[in-house]
Amino acid sequence: MKRRDFINKAIKQASVGVVAASAVTAPAIVSADTKIKWKMVTTWPKNFPVLGTGANQLAKLITEMSDGRIKVKVYGAGELIPAFEVFDAVSRGTAQLGHGSAYYWKGKVEEAQFFSTVPFGMNAQEMTAWLYYGGGMELWRETYEPFGVIPAAAGNTTVQMAGWFNKEINSANDLKGLKMRIPGLGGEVLKRAGGTPVNLPGGELFTSLKTGAIDATEWVGPYNDLAFGLHKAAKYYYYPGWHEPGTTLEAIINKEAFNALPKDLKSIVENACKVVNQDMSLEFTAKNNTALDTLVNKHKVDVRKLPDDVLEKLKELSNEVVSELAAKNKAAQKIHDSYNKFYKQVSAWHEISEKIYYNVR
Ligand code: CA
Repeated sequence: MKRRDFINKAIKQASVGVVAASAVTAPAIVSADTKIKWKMVTTWPKNFPVLGTGANQLAKLITEMSDGRIKVKVYGAGELIPAFEVFDAVSRGTAQLGHGSAYYWKGKVEEAQFFSTVPFGMNAQEMTAWLYYGGGMELWRETYEPFGVIPAAAGNTTVQMAGWFNKEINSANDLKGLKMRIPGLGGEVLKRAGGTPVNLPGGELFTSLKTGAIDATEWVGPYNDLAFGLHKAAKYYYYPGWHEPGTTLEAIINKEAFNALPKDLKSIVENACKVVNQDMSLEFTAKNNTALDTLVNKHKVDVRKLPDDVLEKLKELSNEVVSELAAKNKAAQKIHDSYNKFYKQVSAWHEISEKIYYNVR
């Protein structure tokens, strides 16, 4: 195929992924003057504070840093495809980029949940350190390899809240029969405590809670929860987010589309993800505290700590759930071992640094 024909085809099809897949004999690398159009599908409602706007920011950064050589158009949940079809859409090349979190794909690859968050596990700072410097990223890439998808850390919620409840939680018995939206491993833990976990995309939480279809829901933290108006649908706001102590948000990239990029654009995509990864966690830190103040002082929300014995029970069940997940297959065991080794070491360090400082400041 002649170079000009190749470029024309690229423009016509408006997708590097499709070109790379079809142009078997042509070199896959795109020339410097080719304009690439990528679609980014997200699990979040369009423009949703931090989660959606962070995805927008990632798209903007890639476009700006590449001086328009890659233009990324962002689609909110349901615009191009439903929220929970993001992984499949990127895997088959319908979109070149996706933004969500790994635990949404547990039905497809269970061990992916380690790359979102582990109940009673590492916080945002520790999680990111494991991914970047503790071998986590390599394991994550291996996990998605069979799907033709490359993962990148692209945001972190920091410690979440336990959630919004219309029933008081005074003992572990109160979890029995509780119908709660709670994704990932936390959902498995609730199930083991006698509750019924359900997985719903963010956009459906308010109505489900308000109509009584669910008794409780977790979402993220004060800033995001306030944006959804969850305080108008529930009586109690419990903490801490034992189930999501530092959830990594992910960007997923179609492998063929990524491999077709020249070296500089590959670096731009990877580093834009790194910027957003840090930036989103800082935005959560900055905005959660003002939102909490609004919820407590303006909306008079009843904010409560989960009782210690409830947390102890949940921790015991979490250990069971995580160990059983690890025992399911070799890949899960390998990720679990790497995660745990890092967690143990970083905890020993944070015991005499971050934690003690929180207590004495
Ligand atoms: Ca959550």
